[in-house]
Amino acid sequence: MNPVTGSAREIARAVNARTASAAEIAEVLIPHAERVDAQLNAYLELTPELMRAHAKRVEERVAAGESLPLAGVPVAIKDNMCLEGTHTTAGSKILNGFVAPYTATAVQRLLAAGALPVGKTNLDEFAMGSSGENSAYGLTRNPYDTDRVPGGSSAGSAAAVAGFEATISLGSDTGGSIREPAAFCNVVGFKPTYGRVSRYGLIAFASSLDQIGPFARTVEDAALTYDVIAGKDPLDATSVDRAVEPAADGLREDLRGVRIGIVTEFALDKLDPASRACYETAYADLERLGAELVEVSLPTAEYGLATYYLIAPAECSSNLARFDGVRYGLRADAPDVNEMYERTRAAGFGPEVKRRILIGTYALSSGYYDAYYLKAQKARTRIAEDFARAFERCDAIVSPAASSPAFRFNAKSDPVTMYLMDYYTIPGSLAGLPSLSVPCGAALPEDGTRPMPMGLQMTTPLFTERALLGYAHAYERATLHAEKIMPLTMDAESSMMLRTPTGNLA
Ligand code: GLN
Repeated sequence: MNPVTGSAREIARAVNARTASAAEIAEVLIPHAERVDAQLNAYLELTPELMRAHAKRVEERVAAGESLPLAGVPVAIKDNMCLEGTHTTAGSKILNGFVAPYTATAVQRLLAAGALPVGKTNLDEFAMGSSGENSAYGLTRNPYDTDRVPGGSSAGSAAAVAGFEATISLGSDTGGSIREPAAFCNVVGFKPTYGRVSRYGLIAFASSLDQIGPFARTVEDAALTYDVIAGKDPLDATSVDRAVEPAADGLREDLRGVRIGIVTEFALDKLDPASRACYETAYADLERLGAELVEVSLPTAEYGLATYYLIAPAECSSNLARFDGVRYGLRADAPDVNEMYERTRAAGFGPEVKRRILIGTYALSSGYYDAYYLKAQKARTRIAEDFARAFERCDAIVSPAASSPAFRFNAKSDPVTMYLMDYYTIPGSLAGLPSLSVPCGAALPEDGTRPMPMGLQMTTPLFTERALLGYAHAYERATLHAEKIMPLTMDAESSMMLRTPTGNLA
């Protein structure tokens, strides 16, 4: 077992069996993460002392006879989740210097399960964006081409796992922020059903859509992480009180008897030829694994983006009202309190966040509420009904996870072209469905010299995470796409550790 390249499953098994120590894992991972992060900037803050303290605690618990599902597993946390005593900025200047006074439930559950916190990861400001470029704290680079974006908004959480700077990480997904960066970075990214994982301690963007979920290098590790974080939390009234079916022991090896829906409206001819070829192969592979492919229709999916860009800004305009210089982070000098609010918010928020607050405030204003917000809520219901109808004919729906492979920095200067990246992820978010992206190969971008990773999105009915992860596992093990390409940031020593004597990736 190698602490940098090993899977969460392998690390936990070794630490529980006491053939490896959590302290040893921390001491190997920390310098590696520091070295790689000089190239990627996946982390806003590394937390080596906290990591060591948790490693010590894990060793004591294992020595006392406990078996921990994530014993000694290095985990990275998106910086919109609270981890007591560490800076939590949500990628915004307005929270510069804010130290979390408590720990988010999902993070707490990982730590209780034996995971070791490597640090807090970079993100688009308040999770608004698809490239990481909206962070107030600099760019995160894609480990497969450092001139390209890692995707967003969970930019650092995807890049950290792809660059072997952590074994697993947590991200949040409101309209695609786990699935799109996972696709760009050749890792698995999984958004559970809305309400399945507690949002307590997650800085709210759009509360009716926000959901925490894992990134991992294998479906099995994503399932292990999900099993730890899922479940009712009395501290989050929207978390669902319903038994969690563990996913890690339900992973399948084939797709016999599974009906997979291909969406008429998501025809692949919208994509560039290299990406299209990738998905055509993926669909054929699903069939080869025993699945029956059926055509399904989501006639209202095309209204997804318009609907989302009313609902999400409306909710964010309300959620972000609390950042006014009084209780958290930045406070501008001013002669009176109103002026203080204005100057603090003018200086603290970036342009994309301001745009959304303006749109959201407008959509909620009296006289416009019915025309915009109410109408968007009705469209949202229609989209959810379309999915329900489609799931009468299939067990899972597949599509591209993103509209293109990872693009170059500054390539999308107008907001709408950026919004279009989430064309495939947003409808499932509006319907609250569990959905993931699993690596499905690499395609040469039209402006590129190096093939970039691609992600296959799989979506299933509400609360069917176990089935979803099972299907994704069958596809992953049969194709092994994630292991066929290597991040550029992998140093010679680590890549040697990854390769088997035959030259294949282990
Ligand atoms: N890119 C989308 C947005 O900017 C989704 C972000 C997310 O899922 N947090 O709103």
